[in-house]
Amino acid sequence: MKPLICDFLPVPELLKAKSVLCIQPHPDDMEIGAGASIARLTRLGANITCVTVTDGSAGTYDPSANMDDLVTTRRKETEKSADILGVNELLWLDFADGGNLPLDIVRTEITSLIRKLKPQAVLVCDPWLPYEAHSDHTRTGLATAEASLLAGMPNFCPADLQEGIMPHTVDMIAFYYTAYPNTFIDVSATWELKMAAIDCHLSQFSGEKRERLKAYLTSRAREQAEKQGYDLAEALKALTIDHLHIFEEAWQC
Ligand SMILES: [Zn+2]
Repeated sequence: MKPLICDFLPVPELLKAKSVLCIQPHPDDMEIGAGASIARLTRLGANITCVTVTDGSAGTYDPSANMDDLVTTRRKETEKSADILGVNELLWLDFADGGNLPLDIVRTEITSLIRKLKPQAVLVCDPWLPYEAHSDHTRTGLATAEASLLAGMPNFCPADLQEGIMPHTVDMIAFYYTAYPNTFIDVSATWELKMAAIDCHLSQFSGEKRERLKAYLTSRAREQAEKQGYDLAEALKALTIDHLHIFEEAWQC
């Protein structure tokens, strides 16, 4: 049965958003989690800004890897991949990669970005994914959810107002890497762009690992699409910001 709250707060439609602020903990998360939906949105004319929270410097198993070189490489990989997806702008917060993100500072920075860019929708990893052990992901998701909830309130992070940055309320937030999807985007036409975007991240995946990941994602996208009558779908959780506070049924929406 449909949760009662959906009668009072209907689930928003992400594909109607004309401007989207996409936030990823590391270079490569937006592609894996929502790359084909991003490509679908850009082809519908939406303006997409992608913010990478960390510098990606922990993304290696090689003890002899040079950290600065890795950061540069991952930035180039992201630029190439964003170009394939049609992302309009890339921004970097450059926090140190590796699980020590200062939640309050990240939240303040993302609040300022929401107020400056005034997106209709925010896209981020779901911080409530069961068994997610990487705190860069949970903290990025939480900081972004809270910033989205409160960026419209002038007394939240009031320093922005003193600098002339005015409050802004987003229409919706959508989560990728979610265990509670309610939105299945038909990405049959943009799936190959997602695959090509993932291929850009050579520093992260060896040939075999990359092909395994792509095969898994494709098989999952087929499964998610089945009930919808599509070929391939990306599963997201779309909510209004009002869902993000006090409602016990929000996870079921
Ligand atoms: Zn990540």
